[in-house]
Amino acid sequence: FSAVELTDAYLKAIDAFNGRFNAYVAVTPEQARDMAIASDARIATGEVRPLEGVPVGVKDLYCTKGVHSQAASHILDGFKPPYESTVTANLWNDGAVMLGKLNMDEFAMGSSNETSYYGPVVSPWKSRGSNADLVPGGSSGGSAAAVAANLCAAATATDTGGSIRQPASLTGTVGIKPTYGRCSRRGIVAFASSLDQAGPITHTVRDAAMMLKSMASVDARDTTSVDIDVPDYEAAIGQSVKGMKIGIPKEYRVEGMPDEIETLWGKGRDWLKDAGAEIVDISLPHTKYALAAYYIVAPAEASSNLARYDGVRYGLRVPSDEIIEQYEKTRSAGFGAEVKRRILIGTYVLSAGYYDAYYLKAQKVRTLIKKDFEDVFDAGVDAILAPATPSAAFAVGAMDNASPVEMYLQDIFTVTVNMAGLPGISVPGGLDASGLPLGLQLIGRPFDEATLFRAGQVIE
Ligand code: GLN
Repeated sequence: FSAVELTDAYLKAIDAFNGRFNAYVAVTPEQARDMAIASDARIATGEVRPLEGVPVGVKDLYCTKGVHSQAASHILDGFKPPYESTVTANLWNDGAVMLGKLNMDEFAMGSSNETSYYGPVVSPWKSRGSNADLVPGGSSGGSAAAVAANLCAAATATDTGGSIRQPASLTGTVGIKPTYGRCSRRGIVAFASSLDQAGPITHTVRDAAMMLKSMASVDARDTTSVDIDVPDYEAAIGQSVKGMKIGIPKEYRVEGMPDEIETLWGKGRDWLKDAGAEIVDISLPHTKYALAAYYIVAPAEASSNLARYDGVRYGLRVPSDEIIEQYEKTRSAGFGAEVKRRILIGTYVLSAGYYDAYYLKAQKVRTLIKKDFEDVFDAGVDAILAPATPSAAFAVGAMDNASPVEMYLQDIFTVTVNMAGLPGISVPGGLDASGLPLGLQLIGRPFDEATLFRAGQVIE
């Protein structure tokens, strides 16, 4: 079949099923067909690029030129950027085809995709014996649901504190957050700039390897992107893990974690051992402070980044004759409750008198967390195996009356990786008793994503 036929098949599936899952917030059939036609022309002449004709969905956090890019927020109403993000430009240069923009938590703040201005995403998974709608996880819930429901071949996502790995775990898909600096952040709406990273959500580890190869690049317009060779990740697929040293961190055995997750973790350890890896027990002693420190650092950076939404430059404006009042009205109407909560927390921890007690303390904890990992890798550990999430998917609305901290606890196994800038992958490990997917996480050395693909393939 041709690239045009493949693209049309996906567009038809989106038409038929997006009403049920709410995974796309915008569909771009014209762009998709033009790109697919160009792919077919390339295929005809034999000048095939690495992702020729592969239909991809893009998280709404990415700026796509002339196309809906609103970070699933009301405050960016009508915003169509005049330029393309570096990561998506890389994908199109490699022949991928854009199907549209994917739903997400507002400004990527959340773990269930329920904070979106466009309403929750519904997972294609159901719990055995129940018809309740389940969350796909977040914040890249649209990306995960679209891949799981076959509404795209692969998707872009972002991960500030788990937003690639947690939804991948909850939907039985593969998600990798590469090393901080591996992908350019240029043209990705900023949440917490020292933590944000782009990455793919895909069906298989091999697909993730191909997508990341294309997405990654150094970029003069993001000075935190790193000038380091992007290896042929696909070549790592199928390579033996014999002799690889896998660390099992005791601190990830948290109280209240379901037995099933503990059991799955044990299975993962056995699979890697049977494949020839050496398993060692390790300790990451500052893990217990990671969540608290993350929920200071991330809101602090967010409160600063979100100051630019003033109703003057782009998006929503609630007009007033008085400029301060216009800011207030625009921001009151434009931001959702979770985003406002983050701005309040962030402004508080950065304010004079509280800075030392909260923000500075959290930065010190961050250094200790990073050092924990460095010590383990210095001792010869190649990768760390841990659960990706403390639970399987829960019902849409289940957390509506819970304290926000309940939702933050979803991120307990994922935030350390962002704090330390390391690569982490979530790979489907198995199903729980009610038939819902659970992911296992592998954490690697800086810029050693290849090892995660190698070990990840043993688990999937
Ligand atoms: N759930 C976390 C938060 O809300 C992580 C979000 C993310 O990685 N973008 O901050």
